Amino acid sequence: MTAQRLDGRKLAKKIEHELAPKVAALASEIGRPPRLVVVLVGDVAASASYVKSKAAAAKRVGITADVFSIPESTTTAELVSTVEAIGRDEHGPADGILVQLPLPDHVDARAVLDAVPPDRDVDGFHAVNAGLLSQGRPHFIPCTAAGVQRMLLDAGVETRGKHAVIVGRSDIVGKPLALLLASRGPGGDATVSVCHSHTSNLKEVTQQADILIAAVGIPQLITADMVKPGAVVVDVGINRVLDGDTSRLVGDVDYDPVSTIAEAISPVPGGVGPLTVAMLLENTFSAAKERQNLSQTAE
Ligand code: NAD
Repeated sequence: MTAQRLDGRKLAKKIEHELAPKVAALASEIGRPPRLVVVLVGDVAASASYVKSKAAAAKRVGITADVFSIPESTTTAELVSTVEAIGRDEHGPADGILVQLPLPDHVDARAVLDAVPPDRDVDGFHAVNAGLLSQGRPHFIPCTAAGVQRMLLDAGVETRGKHAVIVGRSDIVGKPLALLLASRGPGGDATVSVCHSHTSNLKEVTQQADILIAAVGIPQLITADMVKPGAVVVDVGINRVLDGDTSRLVGDVDYDPVSTIAEAISPVPGGVGPLTVAMLLENTFSAAKERQNLSQTAE
């Protein structure tokens, strides 16, 4: 068996294609394009590259993306006050605000993320949005988790009644994804297990997965013997590994052997990554639209 390839790039293109005319209509209603403000701290190459691809994707659908580059030496207090100022539109209208992670170790990331107004929090990392998701009334859903669910829905993967195993319990991927897959309705209603660094019998658990999602950050942690034949495997991991003099990106799943036994599998690159960006665009459009609706109600 060769697994169906879950092509995130193709799906992201389709999402962009559908979003662009809606953005254009909203822009003519507001009198300006929706605007995303990205806060980038320090000069971590991977972060700069993610920000670049987010800004390029925004541009493709007609969303303005402006990047605020802040020196690595910034303090938590300075960063909080910058984000608050952006949230008060002191640096131009900010429909969506995103703080690129990771932040330097000396910065309290939680305090910075909580400075983003929840109604502009297009990454869905604010405590209010995390709480709403946990109560089954999501507002902004973290983009990677939303992207994984969209990928499953688009591929027609039934989640209802299935056992979904998520490896990784981070606030930005594993935890929100567990909530989404266990939530009521399409793309949900799964029985969810969450594994992490203290799971003692990882292989025993992953072998039971109808849907296996790896979000760890360890190259090729998930080997073929850990996967039930016929499972759907989604690889969230992005790891740069050295390959002679060059480097390349690999996921958390040992792709070639796993693809011989899985029913479907997402590649790295070209899987979840592009969908994360597409979900960010959708969230930014929604934030701008909600703001416009509110301003009309207030008139
Ligand atoms: P994280 O470091 O915050 O969390 C990693 C999780 O893996 C933790 O919950 C930890 O308990 C668990 N873990 C660590 N070692 C383990 C082991 N041996 N067995 C089982 N679980 C283990 O990472 P994150 O931010 O959630 O990101 C995870 C991966 O996904 C990284 O490779 C990251 O680059 C990637 N990522 C990709 C996207 C995307 O758009 N595709 C977005 C975000 C993160």
